Amino acid sequence: MPRTGSIAGPVAALINEFSKLPTVGPKTAARLVFYLLNRPRHEAQALAEAILNVKDCVRFCSLCFSLTEADPCDLCTDSGRDAATICVVAEAKDVYAIERTGAFKGRYHVLGGLISPMDGIGPAQLRVKELVERIGRDAPAEIILATNPNAEGEATALYLSRLLQPLGTAVTRLAYGLPIGGDLDYADEITLARAVEGRRSLG
Ligand SMILES: [Zn+2]
Repeated sequence: MPRTGSIAGPVAALINEFSKLPTVGPKTAARLVFYLLNRPRHEAQALAEAILNVKDCVRFCSLCFSLTEADPCDLCTDSGRDAATICVVAEAKDVYAIERTGAFKGRYHVLGGLISPMDGIGPAQLRVKELVERIGRDAPAEIILATNPNAEGEATALYLSRLLQPLGTAVTRLAYGLPIGGDLDYADEITLARAVEGRRSLG
């Protein structure tokens, strides 16, 4: 609980709740609470209702395991999207990140995490079985492994590529580039190795 001194109980309680959110520290939490105190009641009510609606109305899509109100989700039912390409990601938030780029028009599969032996997470804790079943059912032409370029993401991609390649589906990995404006010197090895692997010919 952040130190809130002699602040009124309800104010301290809300600061405490906000400060549990990712990237929100006690100072930002206090700023949000004092901002809300100055807003009309209906705005606070809309925020509270939106939070509860997320919890009450959003569920996992039974096909891709992304988050959705309707099951199957819009991405799975959109006939304009290429069902022959499945992009495998760790979390539903990664679907939103890739959708924001507008660069991908296929379908997704959300694993629900990454292989992490230190945390006791193996393939059985992830939606790997569901992915294999889906490949058997839909026979996609390509599986894109879009897990993060860190230790867990690389381990998961390596595991999946070995598991899926015998199924006769092309398995590809995202080509991670160097940040624009970045220096080769400052890139970590994984980023640099990925950038080299993902190189393409000029012209
Ligand atoms: Zn879906």
